[in-house]
Amino acid sequence: MKQQRDSAEFDQAADRDGPRDECGVFGIYAPELDVSRLTYFALYALQHRGQESAGIATSDGTHIITLRDTGLVNQVFDEDNLRGLTGDMAVGHVRYSTTGSSGWENTQPIYRADNHMIALAHNGNLINAVELHAELSDQNVGFRSTSDSEIIAALVSNSSAETLQEAVAEVMPRLKGAFSTVIVNKQMVVGFRDPAGLRPLALGQIGDRYCLASESSAFDIIGAKFLREVEPGELIALTEGGIETQMVCPGQRRAFCVFEHIYFARPDTKLEGELVQQSRGRMGEILWREAPVEADMVVAVPDSGNPSAKGVSRASGIPMDDGLIKNRYVQRTFIQPGQELRKLGLRMKFTPLPEIVEGKRLIVVDDSIVRGNTTMQIVGMLRDAGAAEVHLRISAPPIRHTCHYGIDMSSHEQMIAYGRSVEEVAHELGADSLAYISLEGIYEAIRGERGTHCDACFTGEYPLADTDLAQGKFALEQLAG
Ligand code: SF4
Repeated sequence: MKQQRDSAEFDQAADRDGPRDECGVFGIYAPELDVSRLTYFALYALQHRGQESAGIATSDGTHIITLRDTGLVNQVFDEDNLRGLTGDMAVGHVRYSTTGSSGWENTQPIYRADNHMIALAHNGNLINAVELHAELSDQNVGFRSTSDSEIIAALVSNSSAETLQEAVAEVMPRLKGAFSTVIVNKQMVVGFRDPAGLRPLALGQIGDRYCLASESSAFDIIGAKFLREVEPGELIALTEGGIETQMVCPGQRRAFCVFEHIYFARPDTKLEGELVQQSRGRMGEILWREAPVEADMVVAVPDSGNPSAKGVSRASGIPMDDGLIKNRYVQRTFIQPGQELRKLGLRMKFTPLPEIVEGKRLIVVDDSIVRGNTTMQIVGMLRDAGAAEVHLRISAPPIRHTCHYGIDMSSHEQMIAYGRSVEEVAHELGADSLAYISLEGIYEAIRGERGTHCDACFTGEYPLADTDLAQGKFALEQLAG
């Protein structure tokens, strides 16, 4: 399946070889509103979290209708098919596959009708997926996909508990890993978050009704108000009577993904009480304090490097200009560029501006480096455009370890910082100098503490016990043979 995917698509995201976004989820209970349209626009705001597939499931109290497909939100849905998605409540999903391949069968929401008829949308990654899959298979529970999300759906759907809330409360303690999840049945929408709170999940209000979303920016687009984050280990039911909350798994070590602050979340999202745009600006200021250099101009790698580049420019007093232009309207294409175009250095995503950078000593700011291919190209492009010096400043520490909690980071052998010193990485990338922000600098910028976050991709210290159970993205496919 992996090979099929690689040959069938030229992924624009691969052009920028950062960590891959994961998934975005949304849920709403609002019988008097057009719930499928609201879910569509919320997913539109969450598109950055997953570009492989999109789906919506609606429930009218009797039936659940699900529509899901590979592609972007605006490719999967149109006026006609949205009109068919009628109901009083809905859940939605955008996906980048962190477990299982990107085929149609792994799109979400996942529908199951064992004891409970449900549709489920999940963001995260279970580290005990293989174990749970084996247990369910022994009980003759069948699966139609190879994603770990269907394991959660199967456990909930097969529960003998009377209500959906009871079924979820029974299942939550059995799951290990990251799971920000929303489920719709005939009566309600239920949202829940893993006890470590690895991935975000927020509660919002629209009129007298309630909604749930991976990021608060999804509320802004539909005119909903951000109320608060769902607590780690908490279950919230959106029902006819309003909201019912329950702390199912209290008191475990919190481990919110620090990379959400650095890279994944939209700049207009609030995480842990901080606006992401402002935290990233502070990262730039701290980066300058930690690694100043003589230069003439600050250049951001657009768009994700913009806020921290502004911070570098602010703190240093060095002017910022657009030395690199991001090609607008670039979306995923299914047309292969072919070897020839690749060799010619097909510039799908960035174009350098020689008139701006020529003769200048540049500080080039980006949010992270994983494999380094794109960064190397950018350094080469800027030098070709006449830059006198290229000093890279990165608003994340070096990434040297894989993520087991829902982010696709490549294997550590592919990471440029793995087994290399900072000087060696700078040399490899062709930069005059390279500096990464320190881990302490990150926590200062997000106004948070290590003890309540995950930073394992930088440190190798995985916060959850049993992380060694995790068996990689295609483990369930291997089981399926
Ligand atoms: S390993 Fe990195 S990307 Fe994964 S949850 Fe931890 S901080 Fe986030």
